[in-house]
Amino acid sequence: MSVTVGVINETNELERRVAITPEVAAKIRKWGWQVVLETRAGEAAGFPDSDYTDCEIAPSADAVLKQADVIFRVSPPDAAFFQAAKEGACIIGFMSPFTDQERFKVAAERKQVVFAVELIPRTTRAQAMDALSSQASIGGYKGTLIAANESPRFFPMLTTAAGTIRPSHVLVIGAGVAGLQAIATAKRLGAIVTAYDVRPETAEQVESLGAKFLDLGVQAVGEGGYARALTPEELEQQRQALKDFLNKVNVLITTAAVPGRPAPKIVTADMAKNMKTGSVIVDLAAEGGGNCELTEPGKTIEINGIKIIGPLNVPATVPMDASLMYSRNLYNFSSLLNDDGKLHFNWEDEILAGCVLTHDGQLVHPVLTGEKS
Ligand code: NAD
Repeated sequence: MSVTVGVINETNELERRVAITPEVAAKIRKWGWQVVLETRAGEAAGFPDSDYTDCEIAPSADAVLKQADVIFRVSPPDAAFFQAAKEGACIIGFMSPFTDQERFKVAAERKQVVFAVELIPRTTRAQAMDALSSQASIGGYKGTLIAANESPRFFPMLTTAAGTIRPSHVLVIGAGVAGLQAIATAKRLGAIVTAYDVRPETAEQVESLGAKFLDLGVQAVGEGGYARALTPEELEQQRQALKDFLNKVNVLITTAAVPGRPAPKIVTADMAKNMKTGSVIVDLAAEGGGNCELTEPGKTIEINGIKIIGPLNVPATVPMDASLMYSRNLYNFSSLLNDDGKLHFNWEDEILAGCVLTHDGQLVHPVLTGEKS
């Protein structure tokens, strides 16, 4: 029996991406797998049902779930989804594995194999599957556009008959995947860009984009190439060193994150309020609570003439290209499960083993079991 991949409509209200694009559906069909989508699953991303040639279009989510052996998703599922999916189904997507972990007990009871794309190892071999990176780069790009749109000033220097307009000064905090794309986008728009990160190796990456690296004297390299959380003393040192610099910038874009923890509060309420009138803060860490104390996730607030924007699910605001990239990530990941048309799990493979949450009726990942990996 051939393998059936299923995709249902995303139910999160901000979600416009789809986990399978027509391009990837056609490639998966070449493995001999079937593809079934709930009607209108791709519509918000710009892919109507008619684009999915050779795929079954089902009238409801249940009609998909009762037959799908493999389910591609974008947003993290709730417990009810695991209940509704077939026993033994394989589910791949963002899982938010650090929150509401009770959900995964339902998946384990139902002998489902759940893969969290957030936990795919950040190795060279897994780069084409790295959904965190593909979606973060969209967030960085769009975050800069949001800032430019909300700013009362131009980004580039303009020399006009009405005189010269000075360029905006943009500071990016957190120079990971999102931060680097935010820097590149702000540079393309002509701003003067400075960036800061606690991982020292980012200095060279920042400079290679033509931006300046701000050294605040605090470094915090953690495991797996990520940052570690700062100690309270280090955080205070960072805030003190940053305070004066913030008065020089017109736009602040923050992207700082530490996996599995709330976003570090790098910018206090006072630091934000003391920025120049007309400044804009785009807090791309809003999903994790925000890097600025004043950020209200999902809202734009204005205090002392300073706008503080906490956008949620930014990649979903570029749904077509975000889906193209995400769907290719899932295709590349699933190619590890395709054994000549059959579904096969090779637990010796470090990529599969690195991101599987449940299989064989057990919670298996250290983020769920609490064991050290
Ligand atoms: P992330 O989203 O976890 O964090 C964003 C950035 O915030 C990181 O650069 C982090 O260092 C920084 N940060 C954390 N706390 C901070 C603080 N208090 N002050 C300032 N900055 C702070 O990170 P990410 O963008 O997902 O990337 C994490 C790492 O993974 C990077 O080293 C990246 O190069 C690496 N990576 C490797 C591959 C690969 O080799 N295949 C692919 C993608 C990413």
